[in-house]
Amino acid sequence: MLATLPIAEPDPLWALINAFRQDRRADKIDLVVGVYRDASGQTPVMQAVQAAEVRLAAAAVSKSYGALSGNLAFNDGMSRLLLGEGAEALDRQCTIQTVGGTGALRILADFIALVSPQATIWNTNPGYVNHRPIMTAAGLSVRTFRWHENDAGLDLDTVIADLAEARPGDVVLLHGCCHNPTGIDPTPEQWRRLVGLCKDKGLIPLIDMAYQGFGDGIEQDAAGLRHFAKELDTVLVAASCSKNMGLYCERTGAAMVIAPDRGPLANIRATLERITRANYSMPPEHGAAIAAQLFEYPETWLAELDTSRRRVADIRRDLADALVDCGAPELFQALRRQKGMFSLLPLDPHQMDRLREDFGVYGTSNGRINIAGLLPRDIERLAEALRAVSSAACQVHAA
Ligand code: PMP
Repeated sequence: MLATLPIAEPDPLWALINAFRQDRRADKIDLVVGVYRDASGQTPVMQAVQAAEVRLAAAAVSKSYGALSGNLAFNDGMSRLLLGEGAEALDRQCTIQTVGGTGALRILADFIALVSPQATIWNTNPGYVNHRPIMTAAGLSVRTFRWHENDAGLDLDTVIADLAEARPGDVVLLHGCCHNPTGIDPTPEQWRRLVGLCKDKGLIPLIDMAYQGFGDGIEQDAAGLRHFAKELDTVLVAASCSKNMGLYCERTGAAMVIAPDRGPLANIRATLERITRANYSMPPEHGAAIAAQLFEYPETWLAELDTSRRRVADIRRDLADALVDCGAPELFQALRRQKGMFSLLPLDPHQMDRLREDFGVYGTSNGRINIAGLLPRDIERLAEALRAVSSAACQVHAA
């Protein structure tokens, strides 16, 4: 059996992380790992989470099995967080707890493969590195549409042109906010046009909500999703609590299926539970129990999340200002309007290599940097390094 084991290439992201760890330069800058860091470079446990854990430990009575759908208070809280209090779609949706946002994507991929195996998944290009592997692991075929920027923001005409070949029943995988890796988010008007496009063509939206609260605010960031939920019969949602609750290693997320009415909900739940049962039976309790506490006592959590969101927005502004000050090309100014933790620099892999080798700045080879990984003291140095590698001499070398 093992003689025929194909060679599996190591994950390039983890290779970069290891290279960073082994780099002995004291002033190296890690912009690879997709986690929030505070101004001292830590990824802290939120105080609201710590308080919740104390309450949970004091009240713990049993570690017996929970429900197949996971923590029911969590599922209820997640559906409200995503759709908004009082939303009409709350009455025609089914939400289950999953193993992080990744687990939600995989459970929904298995769901699509079961119900609609011929559906093509339409994925943004560039897109989140793990979307395609998750979808293909479930046996689904994936095609892409460009997710580019013009002078004003998302180039929606290109999106619409590329989706021209999508057939009714195909699934369009959209990022709810803070697109990874580009930071390019639709405007409210563009969300409306995307909803119209899906309606007209009979496409099913799958909204991946991994950064709610890191763009414009916890409610604002859900506006696109909520518009889809209001206007469309069927919507799929994968949500993660990794970033907005800082629960990364607790693997906490949710999968939601919105149906045309309440009729199919029991069967949808049974189907989702059948899928999880064959995978990991039921999800781990701890992260979801914490999240349920945050929903019950939201004040501290929301204030902490807003502080994180502001820090990311401030870094964007300060980096863009520093790039102007040092005379870097205008192209970099798109950073200023992009949203969330990531942006894609207008640099090629050779320039990213040079950034790493000559300046100790680590981003991924496609140009992605984690804005939330940048410390205030490193902003000017990064701006200078970006100016240097994007200079004409360097571009000639790259060619
Ligand atoms: N979707 C996107 C767009 C992401 O960037 C990520 C991870 N950063 C995920 C899903 C997966 O999140 P989780 O860590 O909760 O599995």
